[in-house]
Amino acid sequence: MLEKVTEDVLSPIPDTWRTLPAAQQPAYPDAARLAEVTADLRSRPPLVFAGEVDMLQTRLAAAGRGEAFVLTGGDCAETFAESTADHLRLKIQTILQMAVVLTYGASVPVVKMGRVAGQYAKPRSADDETRDGVTLPSYRGDAVNGHPFTADARVPDPARLMEAYQRSATSFNLIRAFTMGGYADMRHVHQWNRGFMENPAYKRYEELAAEIDRAIRFMEAAGVDFDAMRTVDFYSSHEALLLEYEAAMTRIDSRSGEPYNTSAHFLWIGERTRDVNGAHVEMLSHVRNPVGVKIGPTVTKEELFALMDKLNPRGEEGRLTFITRMGANRIREALPPLIEAVKADGRPVVWVTDPMHGNTINSSSGYKTRNFDTILDEVAGFFESHREAGTVPAGIHVELTGDDVTEVIGGAEEIDDSTLARRYETLVDPRLNHQQSLEMAFSVAQMLRKA
Ligand code: PEP
Ligand code: MN
Repeated sequence: MLEKVTEDVLSPIPDTWRTLPAAQQPAYPDAARLAEVTADLRSRPPLVFAGEVDMLQTRLAAAGRGEAFVLTGGDCAETFAESTADHLRLKIQTILQMAVVLTYGASVPVVKMGRVAGQYAKPRSADDETRDGVTLPSYRGDAVNGHPFTADARVPDPARLMEAYQRSATSFNLIRAFTMGGYADMRHVHQWNRGFMENPAYKRYEELAAEIDRAIRFMEAAGVDFDAMRTVDFYSSHEALLLEYEAAMTRIDSRSGEPYNTSAHFLWIGERTRDVNGAHVEMLSHVRNPVGVKIGPTVTKEELFALMDKLNPRGEEGRLTFITRMGANRIREALPPLIEAVKADGRPVVWVTDPMHGNTINSSSGYKTRNFDTILDEVAGFFESHREAGTVPAGIHVELTGDDVTEVIGGAEEIDDSTLARRYETLVDPRLNHQQSLEMAFSVAQMLRKA
């Protein structure tokens, strides 16, 4: 019955994905309700526009050539409860602060992208969770079900897809206002970074901070006052996990006649759903957005080539990003053969590092955490590997929040096993807090200058 009800004769992309294995999909008990919600979603305005999406691809192409650097940051999983003005403001502020530092370090424009305004669904390692003998469906993100461990909350509810759309729309509306309305002015952002540098723990970045300060003072003194100082382009991204939602948000652009996924500018496919013969890769092969694929340490060259054939058959620059997440202890042996193979092939790929997902550990106090130094070590391994191969390290993709949480161990504030409990708020993976995010930006800026 499901196929019949959800069949959409007006679908802008082939329904071939429906015939392929689709990992990590919620088991909705009410198919008719799902069809109602997706039909409603199809009638809603797009969240992003084809022209913006094309511009992002142009920028990613530049990053792939070393003429720009990509910064993607945001929560592992956004929640409806935290899609408030305050949380969003702090998160965007953090990403903008990082971007100023990275722009100086890389001496090229930084492409700013959030895991934001749509990052509401999570792949899980198990379909169910058992506590004290009770087994319920796993939490799959607010777009699917509720986090509380009750039978009611954990049933996948299609109405949550509509709520995810609404939350994405209001979030991105606020982000557009922030980034266009003067809030993102480089001079203000620089003032915030000055506040950060007042902490003596950051002495090792003092020289770099002083240089950035001089550069901005020089621009001010010279009367430099162009739009690029006042406004920034900020792009949205999320994991394209829930196929019914992503299909409903895919539209034909009236100008070009081409299909675009209008739920975000950039979509990525996760490590668990990147099967080249699976539904996720099939679906994104039909949209014009630039796409990413997460790449773990077990990937083979053949798999990379198959993904390139399927997702970027025309060999367009900026179309395909490989987001590597190898683990700090494996990147130096796992990444070089892959980048050598892709380099020899010659087709363009944008290489970005996700130094978070290969480095998740359990603290002795029982928290899922990551170590700040290990995260930085993976970034260092990423730069080293590309330097040796003569290829371009085009960006970083990190899980962060603008709040002062205690989820990642280390950093200059020296969060340790015993302090994790103080403010551990994530429902899924541990995020860099505000200070750790800025420290990472300074540290990566130093690596970029050596690169
Ligand atoms: C994520 O980005 O939150 C994630 C689940 O990553 P990966 O697919 O690389 O494991
Ligand atoms: Mn995550």
